[in-house]
Amino acid sequence: METNTWMEQAESHILHTYNRYPVVLDHGEGVYLYDTEGKKYLDFAAGIAVQALGYGNQEYKDALKGQIDKLTHTSNLYYNQPSIEAAEKLCAASGLERVFFTNSGTEAIEGAVKAAKKYAYAKDGATDHEIIAMDHSFHGRSLGALAVTGNAHYREPFEPLPGIVKFAEYNNLESVKRLVNEKTCAVLLETVQGEGGIYPAKEEFLKGIQQLCGEKDILLVLDEIQCGMGRTGHMFAWQKYGVKPDIMACAKALGCGVPVGAFVMTEKVAEASLKPGDHGTTYGGNPFAGAAVSKVLDIFKEQKITEHVQGISGYLAQQLEQIQEEYGFVKERRGIGLMQGLELDPAVPAGEVSTKALEQGLILITAGNNVLRFVPPLVIEKVHVDEMAEKLRKVLSSYL
Ligand SMILES: *Cc1c(COP(=O)(O)O)cnc(C)c1O
Repeated sequence: METNTWMEQAESHILHTYNRYPVVLDHGEGVYLYDTEGKKYLDFAAGIAVQALGYGNQEYKDALKGQIDKLTHTSNLYYNQPSIEAAEKLCAASGLERVFFTNSGTEAIEGAVKAAKKYAYAKDGATDHEIIAMDHSFHGRSLGALAVTGNAHYREPFEPLPGIVKFAEYNNLESVKRLVNEKTCAVLLETVQGEGGIYPAKEEFLKGIQQLCGEKDILLVLDEIQCGMGRTGHMFAWQKYGVKPDIMACAKALGCGVPVGAFVMTEKVAEASLKPGDHGTTYGGNPFAGAAVSKVLDIFKEQKITEHVQGISGYLAQQLEQIQEEYGFVKERRGIGLMQGLELDPAVPAGEVSTKALEQGLILITAGNNVLRFVPPLVIEKVHVDEMAEKLRKVLSSYL
């Protein structure tokens, strides 16, 4: 069937909540994707920072196929081996102690917020605790996650949203301090803001928040859904900063394509928060998802993915900076590791650039306020960076 026919069919049956790029993706190999017409694309989006291992990793495919043949679902009323192993490996990778598996990022945030509220409730029995979140943050689309998302456009039609949430300015410690009071139960932020436009936290900011939280027994909740899982060259971005959250939310690359998320916490928080009956999920942590997470964490270790990211990301940053020098309308490069952004002048719309890139066989996405977002599979090599830069230059040159 022709691309246009697929598109028409999609638009007549699928709820129109996305303005999609005009392409029907069919299969992937390595860091390339192919559409139904056989056209090849270099993938610098990785399904929004999900496909960390690229496409077609044999070990990963074998693990999933093997698990399908054994058992895919049991419910959480019983133990299952793959999710036990996955939890153990996630704890080892993070140095945190208790995992709850979810099916998505937004659910990981919901769980993290519930754990923080329960922790505070268990201390004083009050139900009016406050959460401090950040402007320009993104934490998901379900109502609880939306309540802590600092983007009026996403929130407004769905207000009132649950809970008492106050928004501070990202990377402004004073703005956080001003909002803290005896009702504050958690400070929640992305270690590197993703959707908001690729803004890494400053070290003083994160360390300052950690200290503030420590002094007042407020929980530090870090959203590592996009920036975690090796993307910054560290398994979790906070490890680079020398801070440690009380609760962390993961998803996206956690299952490398199998829908799975998690919120992970310290033993101290676990003991004083969610108890049997407080939280649950039918699918979360089922054997299939568990097998994916377990294998992904094995492969990260065996293939030294974080070391590879550290090795390659300087080259990407350097190429992007060179592009910035060549094109006056590229205002800034920001990012850590393989989570990079190029902010463009408003005269050059990032959405249009990404659509033109697609025509050149390059998959790119956007973020925040006119930012091109680079979140490729973590297994890219220099040749792929070169190919991306060449294709991007072709597009950008049309704006000179
Ligand atoms: C994608 C994302 C989410 C939401 O994850 P979903 O799986 O889409 O629900 C939350 N926080 C951050 C930082 C994200 O990038």
